[in-house]
Amino acid sequence: MRNQPDPNITGKEKSGNGEVRIGFFVCHCGVNISSIVNVAEVRDYVASIPGVVVSQDYKFMCSDPGQDLIVRAIKTQKLNRVVVAACSPLMHELTFRNACEKAGINRFLFQMANIREHCAWVHDDKEAATIKAKALAHAAVSRVAYQSPLEIKREKINKDVLVVGGGIAGIQASLEIADAGHNVYLVEREASIGGKMALFDKTFPTLDCSACILTPKMVSVGHRENIKLFSWSEVVSVSGYLGSYKVKVKKRARYVDPEKCTGCGQCWSHCPATKFPSRRQIIIGKDTLINEKR
Ligand SMILES: Cc1cc2nc3c(=O)[nH]c(=O)nc-3n(C[C@H](O)[C@H](O)[C@H](O)COP(=O)(O)OP(=O)(O)OC[C@H]3O[C@@H](n4cnc5c(N)ncnc54)[C@H](O)[C@@H]3O)c2cc1C
Ligand code: SF4
Ligand code: SF4
Repeated sequence: MRNQPDPNITGKEKSGNGEVRIGFFVCHCGVNISSIVNVAEVRDYVASIPGVVVSQDYKFMCSDPGQDLIVRAIKTQKLNRVVVAACSPLMHELTFRNACEKAGINRFLFQMANIREHCAWVHDDKEAATIKAKALAHAAVSRVAYQSPLEIKREKINKDVLVVGGGIAGIQASLEIADAGHNVYLVEREASIGGKMALFDKTFPTLDCSACILTPKMVSVGHRENIKLFSWSEVVSVSGYLGSYKVKVKKRARYVDPEKCTGCGQCWSHCPATKFPSRRQIIIGKDTLINEKR
């Protein structure tokens, strides 16, 4: 494991806005961390990394005095990056980001090294745990030097939902999402929704009638105004990002006008396609074949 300072980190700004001045703060968490990790050794080790201007340890870094220590150091030492080696970021990343912001540093110029859950709590060898804590702290210090200030923006998001696959899972999801008031686009690659359940007579373990459960839900999908069903269709591409996706769906030719078709089935008796085996069949054991109901 690496425990020497990174020769590549210098006091120069990695993201191009002047000199990097990193403040490093390592927490004892009472004895949670300090009983396994030699906190003073980590503090002194990080102090020797170029670009680190302040390296301090404290009993409870998330406490008000702990946060004040960081705020004071940022102001008096003109820090422009902060690393805290303590617990999981899930626990206190926000606390320390707020402290940075309070002292005038962009909240994204902060990095946290988890030396409690990822180190002190999972090791009993003090020497090895200290080496690992140094490596985690070093990685965070290296990383923070490259971080850039970011801005939080609010964007309008599209709350419509795409469900791919119209088996019982996709059907139920679509109905529930539609009930919650969202528009749903349900894409099914077969000619009909229903999936595997449409092929069964009874469902294990209750031996309920499969069609009795499924059919009303399939009908319900057809009746919901806020569910748009694309059967005999497939997703071709997905682009965009969270809240603003663009999805291309390929609809295959259906050879009837879906607006006019009532599903009476009369055309079926004359259809030459019925001579070919179904696309959907399940082979159970040696000889039994469950075909899709045509
Ligand atoms: C022989 C057999 C017997 C079973 N018996 C039972 C039982 O008795 N009790 C029980 O609880 N479970 C049983 N299961 C399991 C049961 O089938 C499944 O739990 C349930 O049907 C799965 O539903 P689903 O919606 O997740 O998937 P599926 O029913 O498989 O539906 C998936 C749907 O997605 C569509 N799809 C797939 N890929 C795409 C794509 N790229 N684009 C668009 N659409 C796509 C498919 O065409 C299909 O309609 C059985 C399974 C099998 C195979
Ligand atoms: S910052 Fe985390 S590790 Fe430090 S005292 Fe608070 S909870 Fe414990
Ligand atoms: S015959 Fe019936 S099922 Fe076939 S296309 Fe016409 S309306 Fe639809």
